[in-house]
Amino acid sequence: NSSFEVVIVGGGSAGCAIAASLKKRAPALKIAIIEPSDQHYYQPAWTLVGAGEFDVNKTMRPMADCIPAGVTWLQAGATEFQPAQKQVLTDKLGAIQYQQLVVATGLKLNWAGIKGLTDTLGKNGVTSNYRVDLAPYTWQLVQQLQSGEALFTQPGMPIKCAGAPQKALYLSCAEWMGKGRLGKIKASFYTATPSLFGVKEYVEPLMQYMRRYQVDLNLNSNLVEVDGPGKTAWFEVKDAEGNTSRISKPFDLLHVVPPQTALEVVKQSPLANAGGWVEVDQHSLQHVRYPEIFGVGDCTSTPNAKTAAAARKQVVIAAENLLAQRAGQALPSRYDGYGSCPLTVEKGKIILAEFGYGGKIVPTFPWDSTKPRRSAWWLKKYLLPWLYWNLMLKGREWLARCGACG
Ligand code: FAD
Repeated sequence: NSSFEVVIVGGGSAGCAIAASLKKRAPALKIAIIEPSDQHYYQPAWTLVGAGEFDVNKTMRPMADCIPAGVTWLQAGATEFQPAQKQVLTDKLGAIQYQQLVVATGLKLNWAGIKGLTDTLGKNGVTSNYRVDLAPYTWQLVQQLQSGEALFTQPGMPIKCAGAPQKALYLSCAEWMGKGRLGKIKASFYTATPSLFGVKEYVEPLMQYMRRYQVDLNLNSNLVEVDGPGKTAWFEVKDAEGNTSRISKPFDLLHVVPPQTALEVVKQSPLANAGGWVEVDQHSLQHVRYPEIFGVGDCTSTPNAKTAAAARKQVVIAAENLLAQRAGQALPSRYDGYGSCPLTVEKGKIILAEFGYGGKIVPTFPWDSTKPRRSAWWLKKYLLPWLYWNLMLKGREWLARCGACG
């Protein structure tokens, strides 16, 4: 049978969590998740893996263990959305019909968008915490490097976890500082963005760490090409007038964060906005043209920080609204744009940035959230992974009612 009351496309953080939330509210609902991958990942811990602070094996679990009980797992990839026919085409299982649809396909890491990168990733000192198999290589490189140039890059927005490129930088510098090597290792940060962080209150506290680690900070500088064996990176640098020039920089270690876009399957569908993202109302998370379709997680057009923390809040809103739409009622819930970014500024301390739409700071705890704190480190390293597997993916939502997650 290829027809379901609710079909969820994507079984990542948002997809599995909304399946659990819907099942909690409506146990009889016939739900399927279309998801090709055998493995489910807790990506927020990859930053810690790259710093030798977390076991990579604890960031993944078999997908079969993450699909909630009573939900059908269709192990296939969606190849086309046909909202007029209320169906999704798949590569292995043909057409899947739905009454209501949730799109939760995440985003595309565009490794090929940087010339020469795919040939050299994982060797020649080129790494990225954005790939599960390479995060351990980051740690290996950080430990091995005794002297030389260490470059860390960030592409243009939007990206998932906008703080992650900096987190790799700070944790590596903290390690080198602790080992007395920072004088011989010169760290540089190249970001395509015009400022260090999108929410202004956090910029100065982060700049203090840039100074502490003596980082050469380069704004408006976009990585465009890498020559691994030649150990050289090229950047397109924009000046105040908007003119671009190309500069090259030698490296011994290069940590790359790839440019990120909407997935092709979404981009080419009637669900997409001009930028390729699933076009939903930013408060209700309902599609603007197809009322029976909702979007959650990194794939949507909503202007929040693309994080698991945002997904955790969104799935509750979308589950409530989807069931109301099903019952022909007005949609009861509104998403405020909450997202969070635990900035690992040193080993053992985090600035827990939490903000909503328009960069409005929405701290969970009643103290100054721009200060680095030991408690936030413990939260990220120990508590949040546990909460993710045992609460968020199980539809236990008390955590989503408060903030504090990443
Ligand atoms: P994903 O979890 O990426 O899941 C998407 C799913 O869709 C995948 O399972 C994929 O296989 C599936 N899929 C793809 N294409 C198809 C298709 N055609 N058909 C069917 N299924 C498909 N967030 C935080 O909150 N705090 C952090 O500190 C943090 N740090 C991060 C650090 C790193 C290095 C990275 C990479 C991410 C980090 N994040 C962090 C971001 C967080 O992991 C994502 O925002 C979150 O996983 C988004 O959930 P999602 O379900 O939208 O996407």
